[in-house]
Amino acid sequence: MEKLIQGVGNSGDLPRAVVAAVVRDEVAETRKRLEGGEAPESREAVIERVRRALARLERSALRSVINGTGVALHTNLGRAPLGREVAGAVAAVATGYSNLEIDLETGERGPRAPLVDRLVSVITGAESACVVNNCAAAVVLVLRCLCGGARQEVIISRGELVEIGGGFRVPEIIETSGATLREVGTTNKTTLTDYERALSPRTAAILRVHRSNFYQEGFTESPELADLAVLARRAGVPLVEDLGSGAMVDTAALAALEHEPTVAESLRGGCDLVCVSGDKLFGGPQAGIITGDKAWVCKVRRDPFFRVLRCDKLMLAALQETALAYLRADRTVLDPVPVLALLSTEVAVLRGRAEKMAGELGPRVRVGEGTARCGGGTMPRSALPSVTLDIDCQDIPEAEMARRLRLGEPPVVGYVENGRVKVDLRTVFPEQDETLVAALRAALR
Ligand SMILES: *Cc1c(COP(=O)(O)O)cnc(C)c1O
Repeated sequence: MEKLIQGVGNSGDLPRAVVAAVVRDEVAETRKRLEGGEAPESREAVIERVRRALARLERSALRSVINGTGVALHTNLGRAPLGREVAGAVAAVATGYSNLEIDLETGERGPRAPLVDRLVSVITGAESACVVNNCAAAVVLVLRCLCGGARQEVIISRGELVEIGGGFRVPEIIETSGATLREVGTTNKTTLTDYERALSPRTAAILRVHRSNFYQEGFTESPELADLAVLARRAGVPLVEDLGSGAMVDTAALAALEHEPTVAESLRGGCDLVCVSGDKLFGGPQAGIITGDKAWVCKVRRDPFFRVLRCDKLMLAALQETALAYLRADRTVLDPVPVLALLSTEVAVLRGRAEKMAGELGPRVRVGEGTARCGGGTMPRSALPSVTLDIDCQDIPEAEMARRLRLGEPPVVGYVENGRVKVDLRTVFPEQDETLVAALRAALR
C-alpha cells in the first residue's frame, strides 16, 4: 500500500489522505477482479488506474471556468453568476458573524433575514414571500402544505406533466410531496371544463406548471390564467403556479427574446402562490422563492418541512443583495445582475471584442457567428444573435481541441460545430478576455 502510494507519486494537490483512500479503493477493485477470475494485472496497470482516478478527482474540484457555450443559465456551469457587489456581500457575511437570527435592538432571537422576504414581495407585488433551498423544494413544500385531511388531490393538466431537466419530473415531484396526482385534459388540449369536472372535496390545489424548456405548437389549447383563477376561487381551492425561471423584468424589453412570464403577472392573474428559482432569470443564488397570498405563505413558513429546506446565511445574503439591486436600479439592474447584462449585450460590442482577440491570436482563430440561448430551461424558442471565436483545429480532431480547452488553465467550455471549435462571447465576461486569449493560445500550441 505504502509502496503503491509512492509509486503513484505526488502528482497533484490532493491531500495524502485522499490519495491513500483512492489507492485503497483501486486495490480493492483489483482484488475483486482477481476473485472474479480475471487475469492478474501488472503493477504498472494498477498504478495507471490509480493515476487516472486521482486525475479525475482532481479535475472535479469546484472551480471557476470560462463559459463559451453561449448558454447564459447553463445548469451544468452553475446557472446565474453573481455580481461583484453581491459576492462581496456574501463574503462579508461568510467570514464573520452576522445578525442572521437576532433582533439587534432587543438582543432577542428574531426571524431569519426578514428583509429578504419583504424585498421579494415588493419586487413581485406579492402580499408575502418566503425562500427555501430551490424551486423543486418550494413546489414540494407548497403542495405538502396545501394537502390536509380529505384534501389530497392536486389537479394538473396532462400537457404540463413535463420533465424540466436535472431530475425534475413534475409527476414525481407532486408524488414526493405526498399529494395525489389528478391529471386532466390531454397532452395538447386542456379546457376549463376539464379542470371544473375534476374539482371535488378531495381537491387540495390546482397546479399550473410553466413548461419551461419545451413548447407546444399547432392544435393546442389551455385555459387563460384569469379564467382558471376564477374557477379556483369559486371552488375555494388555491391556485399554485410553478413558474421556474423567475423573470422579474420584461425579457422582451431586455433583448431579442420572447416575453417570459413574470412572477408579478402570475400573481396579478390570480395565482395564490407562485414558485420560482433564485438562480435563473432572477440572477441570484440557488434558492426557491415562494410568493403570494399572505395566509398561505404564513402556513408554508410554519410547516416543519420549511425548517428542513431553509436557506443558509450565504444564500440569504446573496438573495438580499440581488433583490436590493433590482429595487435600487433605475434601469441599471444590468450591472449588478450579470445574467441580464450578458443577455442584453449588443452584438456590435461582442464583435469588437472578438476582432481584437482574433487579431491577437493569429490566422487560426476567426470571428464567427453564433446563437446564444438563455438556458436553464427558459425561453427555448429564443435564439440570441451572438459572436464567436472559431478555432481552426487543423490536424487535431475537434473533440480533442475542445477537450484541451476544457482541461486548460482556466478551463474553457466551448462547443463543436461545422468542424470548428467555437467559443461564444455572449457568456464570456469582458474582464475574462485576456485570460481567454491566453487559454486559447496555450491550446493552439
Ligand atoms: C427550473 C425549474 C424548476 C427547478 O428549479 P430548481 O431551482 O432547479 O429546483 C422547477 N420548475 C420549473 C418550471 C423550472 O423551470
